[in-house]
Amino acid sequence: MNNSHKQNVIIIGGGPGGLGAALMLAKRGWKNITVIEKRPSADYYEPDKSFSYQIDGRGQKLTDFLGITDKLADLSVPNTEFYLTVIQKDGIRKTTKLPIADSKRKTAYWLPRAAFVELLYQEIQQNWQDKIQVLFKTECVEIKPHSQNSEQLEVITKSQNQEPVSFVPNLILGCDGLNSIVRKTLSEISGESNLFEMQKFPSPSAGLKYKVLTLPPQFPLSETEGDLSQSTMAYAIRSSFKEPKKAISLGLLPFKNPQQPRTANIITYPNHQIWQLSTPVEVEEFFKQAFPQLPVEKIISSEEIARFTFSEGGKFPVPQYCSGLYQIFGKPEDNQGTAVILLGDAVHCFPPDIGQGVNSALEDIYIFQEILQETQDNLTAALPRYQNLRELDIKALIRLVQIGYPWQYNQDQVQKRLWSINFFLRLLLNRLFPFLFSPHCFLLIQNHELSYWEILHKSNRNTRNLSILAGVIILGILMMINYS
Ligand SMILES: Cc1cc2nc3c(=O)[nH]c(=O)nc-3n(C[C@H](O)[C@H](O)[C@H](O)COP(=O)(O)OP(=O)(O)OC[C@H]3O[C@@H](n4cnc5c(N)ncnc54)[C@H](O)[C@@H]3O)c2cc1C
Repeated sequence: MNNSHKQNVIIIGGGPGGLGAALMLAKRGWKNITVIEKRPSADYYEPDKSFSYQIDGRGQKLTDFLGITDKLADLSVPNTEFYLTVIQKDGIRKTTKLPIADSKRKTAYWLPRAAFVELLYQEIQQNWQDKIQVLFKTECVEIKPHSQNSEQLEVITKSQNQEPVSFVPNLILGCDGLNSIVRKTLSEISGESNLFEMQKFPSPSAGLKYKVLTLPPQFPLSETEGDLSQSTMAYAIRSSFKEPKKAISLGLLPFKNPQQPRTANIITYPNHQIWQLSTPVEVEEFFKQAFPQLPVEKIISSEEIARFTFSEGGKFPVPQYCSGLYQIFGKPEDNQGTAVILLGDAVHCFPPDIGQGVNSALEDIYIFQEILQETQDNLTAALPRYQNLRELDIKALIRLVQIGYPWQYNQDQVQKRLWSINFFLRLLLNRLFPFLFSPHCFLLIQNHELSYWEILHKSNRNTRNLSILAGVIILGILMMINYS
């Protein structure tokens, strides 16, 4: 087969999706792949976006294909070693092993986003420089039909202080996250009304506001000399405040590198008191009162307090997806057209409750690669097939986010308890009647051999069987009351 079309690819977005997709295509023999990334570097540290990823078996389908899972493991804390220390307001500490990791599943790896993106970038630099170029500090500013051949799309990019550069690719990958310019362009030029519009679904964690505090590596946990935090330990540090609008918690995820500054997430309702504080002095006083168990002055510098005060922070997105995953213009196989595919957050985005943001993005790419394999990289055949296969999973994923574990941020203690009862009830019923009940979907998600659609199907079957069981119990009680 003539492989001349397996080149001339533009990937918009150099996050985990974009760099992962570039490596996948290069490994499949594609060349002349350009990644456009507006950030300055792969390991660029953005204090308020310094979240950690847990790359599970689903995400590892791609890292296995790329041959980088061992390197991933070297940089990470495995979930089998995930210990959480809860520190109460009086300083009392309790350490437990992650209670809801399924030991039968593949080990999952925790690492900072920047470390994962840097790992992908280093793989490109070391092994694929002849096929992939990554342009940092370069933004895709427009995508439009090509002036000389309307069957092809033209991508316009802009780097600092330079003239715009234009590309006319055979294939565009939209890996540019929630505010995807690729998706918006498809929406504008495809003419099909809702296909590329995000459909939004409610969730109790959507809209929660977050900011991240950067703390020193191995920061002191008390005034006692040598009482230091451990980098590989997760912490939940509770505040002394009890009122819902004042109570907060610092959440720290584990890092492998002991020299890396720690990041403490604060996630709470937008009308929480902490977001109303407008000066560094107020914020510092708030932290000192909230955390009497911590030597606040030693662990949060005045510069960090000021940065935190004036930072915009972020909001958890509403669970959302769009049903159109691709569009083909002309004949890309004959170098007379452009195929466009959307991957990762560009087509499905949601709060981080079930840790599937990065894993679903990596699974998108892995499934795309399987279909390229089946269709011998024929885009006109591969893209519709990809959409048919992946659309159901994406819809199921968004539903799973809604029901998975949206109450984990201490928004409402009653709802959190109800969630726990439901979780353990399903676990118990699964142990007693495994042929009738599956564990809660939050556990099933760890099974990378099940698709999101299969997990949702099992979860819905559970709910139906639970309703029948509840009906039978109520009927039994009523009959007993009648007979007595
Ligand atoms: C607070 C928070 C916590 C999260 N925690 C987790 C978690 O614990 N676990 C998890 O799995 N997921 C988590 N996620 C979600 C996860 O980050 C995303 O699902 C994942 O990064 C998707 O990767 P992506 O490559 O598709 O998109 P992104 O990571 O959004 O990457 C898109 C890239 O495109 C670039 N870009 C965008 N537009 C342009 C343009 N016009 N030109 C050039 N470049 C452009 C951006 O700079 C960015 O680098 C979290 C998200 C948030 C907001």
